[in-house]
Amino acid sequence: MSEKRILELRNILNKYNYEYYVNDNPSVEDYVYDKLMRELIELENQFPEYFDEFSPTQRVGGEVLDGFSKIEHKRRMLSLKDAFSYDELKSWAKDIESKIGKVEYCAECKIDGLAMSITYRNGKFVQAVTRGDGSVGEDVTNNVKTIKSIPMLIDYYQEIEVRGEVFMPKSSFEMLNKERELNGEELLANPRNAAAGSIRQLDSGIVAKRKLDAFWYYLPDGDTYGFNNHYETLNWLGKLGFRINKSGTGLFKNIDGVIDFIEELAINRNNLPYEIDGVVVKVNDLKLQEELGYTVKTPKWAIAYKFPAEQAITQIEDIFISVGRTGRCTPNAKLKTVKLAGSQVSAATLHNEDMIKTKDIRINDFVYVHKAGDIIPEVISSIKEKRDGSQIPYVFPTHCPICNEPLHRYEDEADYYCVNNDCPARVVTSIAHFSSRDAMNIEGLGEKRVEQFHKEGILNTVADIYLLKQKKDKILSLEKFGEKSFENLIEAIEKSKQNSLDKLLFGLGIRQVGSKASKILADRFLDIDNLINANIEDLQNIRDIGDITADAIITFFKDESNLHLIECLKEAGVNTRYNKVEKIESIFTNKVCVLTGSLSFLTRSEAEKKLEELGAIVTGSVSKKTDYVIYGESAGSKLEKAKNLNIKTLSEEEFIKELK
Ligand code: NAD
Repeated sequence: MSEKRILELRNILNKYNYEYYVNDNPSVEDYVYDKLMRELIELENQFPEYFDEFSPTQRVGGEVLDGFSKIEHKRRMLSLKDAFSYDELKSWAKDIESKIGKVEYCAECKIDGLAMSITYRNGKFVQAVTRGDGSVGEDVTNNVKTIKSIPMLIDYYQEIEVRGEVFMPKSSFEMLNKERELNGEELLANPRNAAAGSIRQLDSGIVAKRKLDAFWYYLPDGDTYGFNNHYETLNWLGKLGFRINKSGTGLFKNIDGVIDFIEELAINRNNLPYEIDGVVVKVNDLKLQEELGYTVKTPKWAIAYKFPAEQAITQIEDIFISVGRTGRCTPNAKLKTVKLAGSQVSAATLHNEDMIKTKDIRINDFVYVHKAGDIIPEVISSIKEKRDGSQIPYVFPTHCPICNEPLHRYEDEADYYCVNNDCPARVVTSIAHFSSRDAMNIEGLGEKRVEQFHKEGILNTVADIYLLKQKKDKILSLEKFGEKSFENLIEAIEKSKQNSLDKLLFGLGIRQVGSKASKILADRFLDIDNLINANIEDLQNIRDIGDITADAIITFFKDESNLHLIECLKEAGVNTRYNKVEKIESIFTNKVCVLTGSLSFLTRSEAEKKLEELGAIVTGSVSKKTDYVIYGESAGSKLEKAKNLNIKTLSEEEFIKELK
């Protein structure tokens, strides 16, 4: 049971990491992620036999994206250990003080952006690299150059690396989202994801418009510059011309002083011009920092205290249903507008009928709402003591509020569905999904824009997207739509025709088929016609495609309207083949490989990437299904297990020989 839960948690957290670090588009709030991460840490502590160096608890979260050159960090860029309560913070300090005696702490605002390393040679700015997976980051030099507060020249001529946080000020974030709203594009979840997404734009011109900023908070190997403590290094960086967060930094003789500082910041954080999600506490003395050392993922001399999810009290004015792409009907509370985590909130999700009943939430109730990761606010509970007799229990509708067709609740599911394929709400969200970033990536065709076009009668099916260029006059007559926006939109639509089959499959919105399954299917069938003609056994035989997914695919391609849509897309010139990156045949092709121990010639992510290019499936744990275990220095239990199971093992040298 515990092993099953551990694997389940690792899968979920890997998925959330991908959404957060690669797509810059998280699907859950941070507190949900943090709670699951805590559960995994506890289980792994309780059952050390399931230790896995690839577990999200052991890895710095990010991944290195294609499109940028990769730079190996001279010293690893780590994450921070979290504390979610004052007790945890105190116990961290107590532990340190029991080892090395009384220490001074430096506490700093935890800026909600993305970590960056910048390097200067001969007094000139030469390089900026993201944290990436901690060992290897992306070269984003040109993009970081657009941040005006970063000095291009400094009065220091040895090579020097400085680390800090690139962030999007609240004002830039609000401006950007307003612009996106006008363009009918999806709004960005929060300034952190907006900053990360901006820095990874391939066009520096776009980055410059995003008006990013940065604070610098770390000088690696500060003692080699002759400094005794962290605070001195900050002051020196400030004098060199780096923007340091002086007013958001304090020195404290004990942890109680730090807690007072946190309390003050918690009250004032909404008035700051940038988002913070907590306070980072560091042991100030640089020698003591080294003495305390590091884990694989975090320094032991620092900790991040995270603010609890913010809550507010307000009243529910009404409950309304929103209908999603799959027809799922989600109840939402219309709220009396309330200020929460720096923004005005007037609606919150109630998830489903069962939640409304279990929590006994009624129209006119006073409720607690919260919003931790700045995504969709949620109603936590109703305040029964505040009821005055005007509260009305909510009766879930029997018919779709949009198209009035009867709703359906599947056995064992908590949600109701509108099963009418022509329901306008479903049509709009399906088209917006088709054009979304992970699908056909048609910039300028977000949900708001699709809704507008649908209302005007020019966008009724996905296939109509490719007929929009014939509707120029009509589109130009719409409010806030100029010639340039039209041209950009048509260009994005034309470009999408070249997309590979996997993007198209994801865009079609087949139930159970996410972007990973779409890739697997595209790789296996190469052409949409082969997939349409596949039978259930062909699908069930594919590793990673379960019975339910196989069923959903068969059902989708049995539906005449879906087949008609595919014909229309082909006619419009949309590519329906997989743009396969040819894999080089090798002993690793289609084999399951596990990497263990520390490698000397390649970083772990390089080795993984090389294996994947050769068609291998790289997994984290050794089982009977593993074909090869590749081991570096100090390999432990995995190598042992491989030997016990008679699995072929390769030393790093043997592996490199095979690569050659
Ligand atoms: P973190 O954000 O908890 O802390 C480490 C980072 O803090 C550093 O890398 C640095 O970038 C930053 N930082 C800001 N100010 C700093 C300062 N003054 N000094 C030092 N560092 C400072 O760790 P992480 O590994 O970057 O991210 C993990 C967190 O991200 C999770 O706890 C979660 O809240 C969030 N997350 C959310 C999702 C999701 O799906 N919602 C997914 C993945 C991660």
